[in-house]
Amino acid sequence: MKLTNIGTVRSLMEKHGIKFQKKFGQNFLIREEIPIRIADECGAGKDDYVLEIGPGIGTLTRELCQVAGKVVAVEIDSGLIPVLEETLADFDNVEVVNSDVMKLDIKSFFEEKFGDKNVYVCANLPYYITTPIIMLLLESRLPIKKMTFMVQKEVADRLSSNSREGDYGAVTAAVSYYGRVEKLFNVSAGNFMPAPKVDSAVIQITLYDKPPVSTSDEKLFFKVIRAAFEQRRKTLVNALSGKVDISKEDILNAVTSIGLDPNIRGEKLDIADFARLSDEIKRIQSER
Ligand code: SAM
Repeated sequence: MKLTNIGTVRSLMEKHGIKFQKKFGQNFLIREEIPIRIADECGAGKDDYVLEIGPGIGTLTRELCQVAGKVVAVEIDSGLIPVLEETLADFDNVEVVNSDVMKLDIKSFFEEKFGDKNVYVCANLPYYITTPIIMLLLESRLPIKKMTFMVQKEVADRLSSNSREGDYGAVTAAVSYYGRVEKLFNVSAGNFMPAPKVDSAVIQITLYDKPPVSTSDEKLFFKVIRAAFEQRRKTLVNALSGKVDISKEDILNAVTSIGLDPNIRGEKLDIADFARLSDEIKRIQSER
């Protein structure tokens, strides 16, 4: 069964009486090499488990089943479940779960489905919730080795950017705390059905065993990052003012006492600077 064939996609959908659901970000892959390459490069071997988010009609899922020990695929659209039963019938190492991934109790889901196995996450992500899904998986501290995602090219460039200008944003900074991001390859819009308006790219996040910087209060660290980028045209001191629980004067003291220019903008800081700054803010808070 060649699921990247346009005729096959059409006849499967017709047979099961379903239509592409725009609200679920359904753009199915129709170029055979792409799911094969994603499965090859996702890092999972026969001893490993894979979580796939949004299997669609099972195009990438089938390739993942060939490389991994077991694949658990979470699909929100109940209309696709009978299609997946048909397209995945020749694999006995796959389980399809009909659920919104954002509504799962993700920690217990991992314990139940994967136990103590190494987990690799793979997805051609629905574009409307790319960042929330990535942040949910990172912040939940799950036993994930690598995550390989198809995302909008613009998002891929932002997340894999080393520069602290332009595309660099709060999400880039937050993601770089959890793992190393690499762009694997670009995928043009014509490789999907229906074709989206923008091009895509595949990125891979290799999770660190331990964050590259240490901070005494992770929650405050992320709060400072978010606030710094929320109003990125302001200086860092102005952007943080009213957002962290100390006076503007104390924010200025914190910024200068870690050796930063008082007029610096948030986008100039790397995560080591953010860790030092949030620790200093924490110290000032605790003195009061
Ligand atoms: N993996 C297929 C492929 O590559 O051809 C389909 C990818 S399509 C871009 C995104 C898939 O994610 C769709 O099947 C969609 O129904 C599903 N999806 C959207 N939101 C979801 C959610 N919150 N939880 C689980 N699946 C979701």
